[in-house]
Amino acid sequence: MNEFQEKLVHFTWPEPKKSYDVVIVGGGGHGLAAAYYLATRHGITNVAVLERNYIGGGNSGRNTTIIRANYGIPEAVRFYQHSLELYQTLEAETGRWIMHQEKGILWMAHSEIGMQQQKARAAINRAFGAKTEFLTPEEILKVCPEIDLTGGGVWPVVGGSYNTEAATARHDRVNWALAEGAMMRGVHVHQKTAVTGLLMEGNRVTGVQTDKGPISAGIVMSAVGGHVTSLAAMAGLRLPIRTHPLQAFVTNHYARTFHPIVASTNLLFYVSQTARGEMLMGAEIDPQPSYNYRSDHHFLQSCAFRATTLLPFLRDLRVLRQWTGVCDMSPDYSPIMGKTSVDGFYITTGWGTWGFKAIPASGEQMAQLIATGETPEMIAPFALSRFAEDRLMADRGSAGTH
Ligand SMILES: Cc1cc2nc3c(=O)[nH]c(=O)nc-3n(C[C@H](O)[C@H](O)[C@H](O)COP(=O)(O)OP(=O)(O)OC[C@H]3O[C@@H](n4cnc5c(N)ncnc54)[C@H](O)[C@@H]3O)c2cc1C
Repeated sequence: MNEFQEKLVHFTWPEPKKSYDVVIVGGGGHGLAAAYYLATRHGITNVAVLERNYIGGGNSGRNTTIIRANYGIPEAVRFYQHSLELYQTLEAETGRWIMHQEKGILWMAHSEIGMQQQKARAAINRAFGAKTEFLTPEEILKVCPEIDLTGGGVWPVVGGSYNTEAATARHDRVNWALAEGAMMRGVHVHQKTAVTGLLMEGNRVTGVQTDKGPISAGIVMSAVGGHVTSLAAMAGLRLPIRTHPLQAFVTNHYARTFHPIVASTNLLFYVSQTARGEMLMGAEIDPQPSYNYRSDHHFLQSCAFRATTLLPFLRDLRVLRQWTGVCDMSPDYSPIMGKTSVDGFYITTGWGTWGFKAIPASGEQMAQLIATGETPEMIAPFALSRFAEDRLMADRGSAGTH
C-alpha cells in the first residue's frame, strides 16, 4: 500500500441521508471542488456529492491535464488566471501531492494572421494578469529545441505566444485531494449513486430522486459534465449544450525531458510529457455530437500526423493507450456557471475541452454563490442568461482544440 492509498482508507462511506442543505450531482472535479470550498471557505458541510459511477470516472479523470490562462477575452483570462493560481497552492492547501508541475505552453503560429492573433493574445493576457509573451521562432527554439521550425516544409513556425505559468497536474490526484478535503470536514460523497430525477415543487427544485431513494435538498447543483442536458431536462430546462467526444493518446516513454506544453493554432494538436515520460497528445473534438466513448483510428492517424509534422522525434515512439471522454460544448466556447430560471437549481457546465484547468476557480466561485445566494462578480459574465440576452462570451480561438 502506498502513501496515497494509506491516506484514503480511514474514510467511511455512510448511506445517504434523507436530506442535505446542498446536493451536488456529479463527482467529477467541478462537483468535488464546490463541495471542498463549501466546507473549507464557508463551513457548510451538510452537503452530499452524488456520483453514479466512481469519483473522477468522467472527464476529470480522462483529460490531458493542461492548466493555462492564455484565453482570448478579459473575463476568461481573469477567471483562468485565478484558477491557475489556486492550482499553484492546492498541494500546500490540501496536503496532497497533486504532481503540479509548471511547464509553460507554447502556442505556435504558422501565418501572418496567426502571428497577429498570438501577439494580441499575449497583450490581452498581460493586461488581465496572465504571464504570456510573444516569441520569435529563434526564441521558440530556445524553449523547445525539438521543434522543426519549417513545419515539415508546409507549416513554418513564424512566432508564437508563451504562457509561462502553464502547468500540468495529475488528474485523479486532484479529484481525490478535493474529495478527501471535503470528506474530512464532514461532506458525504456517495459513489454508485445515480440521480434519476429531480424533485420539484412548482418552479423550485427541492431534491433529487436517486436509485437509492429520494433525497431532499435546499440547493441542487448540477456538475455532471457531458450529461448536463439530460439532468437539466428533468427540471424542464433546455440548455444550449451539445455533447461531443474528445480523444487523446499517450506514447511509450521518451528518454529525454520534454519540458514545455506545445500547441499549434493551425495544426490543432497539443503535446506534453507526463511524469512517467510518456508523450501525451490531443486534438479537436469529434465533429458529430454523441455520447460515444469509442476511440478510433482516424483520430489517431490524423493527430499523430500533425504532431510529427512539428515534432519529428515523435515518429520514433509507439502509441500505448488511446481513450475518449464526452464534452459539454457551449455555442460560444465559454463555460456556463450560476443560477438558472428554476429556483434552487444551479449549474456549472459548458466545460467542453477546457474544464480541468477551471476546477478550483469554478468550485470556489460556485461555493460562494451557494453560500451567499449572490453571484460572485468573477463568474457573473458566464451566466446562462447571456444566451437569452444575446451577450455571447465568444472565445473559440482559446479552446486549443478548434
Ligand atoms: C480527452 C480529453 C482531454 C482533455 N484535456 C483537457 C486539458 O488538457 N485541460 C483542461 O482544462 N480540460 C481538458 N479536458 C476537459 C476536462 O476534462 C473537463 O472539462 C472537466 O473534467 C469537466 O469536469 P466535470 O466535473 O464538469 O465533469 P466530469 O469529470 O465528467 O464529471 C461529471 C460526473 O458526473 C457523473 N454523472 C453524470 N450523470 C450523473 C447522474 N445522473 N447522477 C450522478 N452522477 C452523474 C459522471 O459519472 C461524472 O463522473 C479534456 C477532456 C477530455 C475528454
